[in-house]
Amino acid sequence: MKTKYIFVTGGVASSLGKGTISASLARLLLSRGYSVTIQKLEPYINPDPGTLNPYEHGECYVTEDGAETDLDLGHYERFTNEPTSQANSVTTGGIYLSVIEKERRGDYLGETVQVIPHITDEIKKRILVLGQTKKYDFVITEIGGTVGDIEGLPFIEAIRQLRLELGKNAVCIHLAYIPYLAAAGELKTKPAQHSVKLLLEQGVQPEIIVCRTEHKLTEGNRSKLALFCNVEKSCVIESIDAKSIYEVPMLMKAEGLDVQVLKKFGLSTKDDADLRDWTTFLKKLFNPKHEVTIGLVGKYVELKDAYKSITEAFIHAGTSLNCKVNLKWIHSETVNAKNVKSLLQGLSGVLVAPGFGKRGVDGKIAAIKYVREKNIPFLGICLGMQCAVVEFARHALNLPNAHSVEMDEKTKHPVISVMANQKNLDQFGGTMRLGSYDCHLKEGSLAKKIYKKSKISERHRHRYEFNNAYLKSFEKAGMTPSGINPEGLVEIVEITKHKFFIGTQFHPEYKSTVENPHPLFVAFVKAAMSN
Ligand code: GLN
Repeated sequence: MKTKYIFVTGGVASSLGKGTISASLARLLLSRGYSVTIQKLEPYINPDPGTLNPYEHGECYVTEDGAETDLDLGHYERFTNEPTSQANSVTTGGIYLSVIEKERRGDYLGETVQVIPHITDEIKKRILVLGQTKKYDFVITEIGGTVGDIEGLPFIEAIRQLRLELGKNAVCIHLAYIPYLAAAGELKTKPAQHSVKLLLEQGVQPEIIVCRTEHKLTEGNRSKLALFCNVEKSCVIESIDAKSIYEVPMLMKAEGLDVQVLKKFGLSTKDDADLRDWTTFLKKLFNPKHEVTIGLVGKYVELKDAYKSITEAFIHAGTSLNCKVNLKWIHSETVNAKNVKSLLQGLSGVLVAPGFGKRGVDGKIAAIKYVREKNIPFLGICLGMQCAVVEFARHALNLPNAHSVEMDEKTKHPVISVMANQKNLDQFGGTMRLGSYDCHLKEGSLAKKIYKKSKISERHRHRYEFNNAYLKSFEKAGMTPSGINPEGLVEIVEITKHKFFIGTQFHPEYKSTVENPHPLFVAFVKAAMSN
């Protein structure tokens, strides 16, 4: 089958959940036996979101092959259980960067380099490349931002051109917000109509309109949208607020989104999507038999999106154990030796989050000291693991000045040091240790017991590492390096005598999906449940 391309645009407002709709449609098509991948086009000028403040943009997600991407790629993987890659994340910055590099190389000698055709050609190339791998029946391309945004214009123009070139192999879905006017007591379709008009002005007629709404659409709403937006009534799809984003594939199925898409491509709609596993997951998610509360200590807790993959990993792990995991968000800047007991007391487990820079580190260390001494299950991720190493050095190895050189360049005991290849970098963006690396698990360790295998591969995003000069003293005092990279980098530390104390240099949360909850999260929640 020739690859089919689905474009997803958004209108009226941002944050409508284009990512969730794209991921849900992918889930439905996958469940019908098709191969699907989802790609995100981001209109901002940063070549990748790696340097963006999480307060601004939420979590930076990392793919197997080391792309720093928008958090939507995390949703794609969690819904589809398929890894994404560099090619799934495209930004205006990245597009311009490669066009300008080509210009400097002389690839366009004699030509005036312009938005049309040079930038749009590059965008089209990036969209088509996923289909050319021959791996996918469907490529879903989500366009970030809202129609009408100046910065989104080249993307919409590229889609207009592609639709002409691809003919029947391209379909556009437009997601628009349908506001409810309380005073009038009704839903208003006019803003959505206007957003479709904007798309039409740019030469794109969407085939399907997905309506984000807090109230059920009336038949009247559907007819009006169909008439004014030039689509069939059956292609007006309601997307009402859901209890959980994981419910959205079922809602989309009930509205027939997958069926309409298949019809547009002239594909058979006879066989139904097999959603038995998904249904079982939802049943367990909505009917938990147990409940635990776990503390999440981090410095971005005001914006929960900054820890998206972690919160989702807890949902996957908890659900697999029939357990609802409540998260108590604890701002690391507020934790100190005096209040740590009152803040953490009663929690069944504590996760210390990843991060960069000094802010909140003292609070993370205070929290770790408390859970280590009180034998409370602990999972430290990346900076969380590094803080556990610093805490152990200070209070168990009696090295009160120990620190990470990220926080104190001149520390007497640099138990966390900068990686050799990170020392003389002249660029900040895209230069961390990124993506998947192998790790060998130590025989007899808790990590080995959890993973049930000796060799694992996990994703990374860091510049600093455990300083191996201190390895022996740590081992002697009871903190074991239980996961080591082939190059000798400590990937996991654990405290053998503790109920559950694990720190990982890598980010297990990036690999957790509905289908495959991450073993470390499952083991951590289990430990919390029996605490
Ligand atoms: N700042 C630390 C480092 O760069 C930890 C990074 C992280 O938590 N992702 O090594």
